Amino acid sequence: MSLVRLIGAEARLLAKRSYSSAAVPTTKLFIDGKFVESKTTEWIDVHNPATNQVVTRVPKATQDEMRTALESNKKAFKSWSNQSIVSRQQVMFKLQALIKANMGELAKNITQEQGKTLVDAEGDVLRGLQVVEHCCSIPSLQMGETVANVARDMDTYSLVVPLGVTAGVAPFNFPAMIPLWMFPVAITTGNTMLLKPSERVPGVTMMLMELLNEAGCPPGVVNIIHGQHDAVNFICDAPEIKAVSFVGSDTAGKYIYERAGKNGKRVQSNMGAKNHGVVLSDANKENTLNQLAGAAFGAAGQRCMALSTAVFVGEAQKWIPDLVERAKKLKVNAGHVPGTDVGPVISAASRQRINDLIESGVQEGAKLILDGRQITVPGYEDGYFVGPTILTDVTPSMKCYTEEIFGPVLVILNADTLDDAISIVNANPYGNGTAVFTTNGAAARKFVNEIDAGQVGVNVPIPVPLPMFSFTGTRGSFRGDHHFYGKQGVKFYTQTKTITQLWRETDVTHTQAAVAMPT
Ligand code: NAD
Repeated sequence: MSLVRLIGAEARLLAKRSYSSAAVPTTKLFIDGKFVESKTTEWIDVHNPATNQVVTRVPKATQDEMRTALESNKKAFKSWSNQSIVSRQQVMFKLQALIKANMGELAKNITQEQGKTLVDAEGDVLRGLQVVEHCCSIPSLQMGETVANVARDMDTYSLVVPLGVTAGVAPFNFPAMIPLWMFPVAITTGNTMLLKPSERVPGVTMMLMELLNEAGCPPGVVNIIHGQHDAVNFICDAPEIKAVSFVGSDTAGKYIYERAGKNGKRVQSNMGAKNHGVVLSDANKENTLNQLAGAAFGAAGQRCMALSTAVFVGEAQKWIPDLVERAKKLKVNAGHVPGTDVGPVISAASRQRINDLIESGVQEGAKLILDGRQITVPGYEDGYFVGPTILTDVTPSMKCYTEEIFGPVLVILNADTLDDAISIVNANPYGNGTAVFTTNGAAARKFVNEIDAGQVGVNVPIPVPLPMFSFTGTRGSFRGDHHFYGKQGVKFYTQTKTITQLWRETDVTHTQAAVAMPT
């Protein structure tokens, strides 16, 4: 049977499989290549954000279960790290094909647990898949260096070797992409990984584990635990875990960076954002407004690279009413309904927090020119919906500006000049992404040079780099040294061993110990 047909059969199999038992829908742990029912007494309900129905219950793994998972990672590291690098590469080739073949099923699960539209959920899987594809090139990225004859008959070479057991802690907003930023890079470089998906969207990670098994990855190379603070503390404290990848909020990111760091671990922590789109009056108006509306309200504003803030410079301010017209046309509905542009936000608590931040803007003097708070979606009255919302006349001291809203809300500031706009962006503590919209090359170049953000778009609203580069948020949006995926991802999950060796055809016998440095 050809690989393609085999994958097709596997796709149908996966579609029928359930990760929850029929009577009590529960999400399993994944330990040593097996899906295991937790013995915990503490469970977290996962709701479909469009309906408020409970779709599964996630266990808070017990200390014993987390220890068992870690022991399995430790044991697997011994053989996995010694397996040939091309055999690890082969697992990635197979995983790549399996993810592609199962894209639709993976996306359905994301829409059910996270709420985003099906098209957007496929994008979530695709951007993670691209990391898997890049991992197929790790054998050439993990090469060391050699210098022959550093002294007579002496050579020095370096090996780029894995760290050991690593860990990942993921957020809710990209249920597939972010786990796929983590475990493929970690394991292809020879590590094993203990992964904790977001307790709010665990399903697609479990499906990826099924695919990883089918791709021939040995048991224990990746283990999955579920939970909240106890699981995170276990990861930060376990001495066997050498490195932690985190993506999520500031509170959790700073906490993990400090706690794991104190325990001597390497940490990469991607946190919150407030991404500004700067609009100059010489920009292509149609494209700019469409891009702004898409980047502000797509995925209900729950992207770390969403353009949640716009700075309109000078005459461009006259375009704001046209932006409102575009935002009004976006269809708010359940993510699985065809034609939906904006799905629900993740939870009732999140909706409340978003609505409160909108209200705070109004109280502090901003103008609410589009209010999505009162929206009801026929057939989904219990869903957690917020319609596209626009606040203008926002100033940098307002709470709706200083806090990450993480909902379909665009806050708009005005600036007289490009210099003023750059100052506004650079004064904001976050440094994830930003974009300028202009047809003036010199203005674009000035923006690129002077802006202090890790990812810059020029007429590109969401400039997320493909995985041959790295995801390079800075300042308040990132703590750590090496970023996610790309060459920096390989650096994060590896260390260098430098070997200096002396091989001489005729052995020389030293008659006394040399105590001085060789000169
Ligand atoms: P979150 O911080 O609530 O959760 C992320 C993970 O941390 C989860 O696995 C959760 O169980 C754990 N966690 C939550 N609170 C914790 C705490 N106090 N201590 C220890 N662990 C804790 O984040 P979220 O709401 O799932 O995700 C949204 C956030 O993630 C937004 O702030 C968004 O900007 C950010 N994000 C950033 C990037 C980036 O690349 N910079 C990408 C995606 C999301």
